[in-house]
Amino acid sequence: MEQRCIHCGSPMKSLFIQYSPGNIRLMKCDSCKAIADEYIECEIMILLIDLILHKHKAYRHLLYNTMYSDMADVQGLLWKSSVVYLLLDACNSRVLLLKTNIEEGGFLGSSFSSMWPCWKVLLDVFVVNLIALMVLLFLTRTFLSSSEIIMYKDLLLAVIISSYWKTFVIAMMVWKFPPSVIFILDMLVLSSNAVALKVMTRSTMTRSILVCFSAHVVKFLVGPLLEILL
Ligand SMILES: [Zn+2]
Repeated sequence: MEQRCIHCGSPMKSLFIQYSPGNIRLMKCDSCKAIADEYIECEIMILLIDLILHKHKAYRHLLYNTMYSDMADVQGLLWKSSVVYLLLDACNSRVLLLKTNIEEGGFLGSSFSSMWPCWKVLLDVFVVNLIALMVLLFLTRTFLSSSEIIMYKDLLLAVIISSYWKTFVIAMMVWKFPPSVIFILDMLVLSSNAVALKVMTRSTMTRSILVCFSAHVVKFLVGPLLEILL
C-alpha cells in the first residue's frame, strides 16, 4: 500500500524531502493543497491523543503512513499484533470471568484455578475471534464499497491495530475496576474499528459502525455457545 495525505486520503509518492539528518521539508498534497502529513513532525503524545479522539487523520497516519513506510515489516507486524491481540482478549475473558465469579459469591483464592484451564480460554478466544474476523471481513467486502482493491491482510491489520484499547485490560488485571469498564472498552474498540474501516474503505461512518457492530454481536453470541460446547 502507498502512503497517503491524512486530510483527503490521496496517494502520495513521498511525504517529505530529507536534505540532511533532522532537516526535512514536509510535502503538500496536490489534491487538497494541505501539508500531507504533519504528524511526521509531531510528538507521539499528540498522535495518541488524536487517536483517542477518533480523528480520521490520525488513523490515516497510523494505518497508511506508519505501517506502510519503507522500513516497516508488515508481515511481521501482522503476526506479532495478532498474537498480542489474542492474548489481550484472553486476559479480557479472564478478567470478566474473575469478576463474575467474585460477584456470584466465589472468592479470589479459588478463582483462577477453578475456572477454565488456560488452553480452553485460548482456544475459545482464538475460535471466537476467527469467526468474528471472518464475518467482519466478509461484511466489509460486501457492504463497504471501495474504489480500490483492499487486501484482506491490510484490513485485518487495520482492525487489529485499531483495537489498541484492549491494552487497558492489563491495567484491569492490576487495579480494581467495575465490570462495566470492560463493556466501555468493548464499545471503544468497536468505534475505533469503525473509524479504521471507514478510513480504509472510504465508506460512510454509519455503514462502518453497522459492519463492526454485526461482527461484535457475532462474537458476543459465539462466545457463550463455545463455553457450552467446550
Ligand atoms: Zn490531501
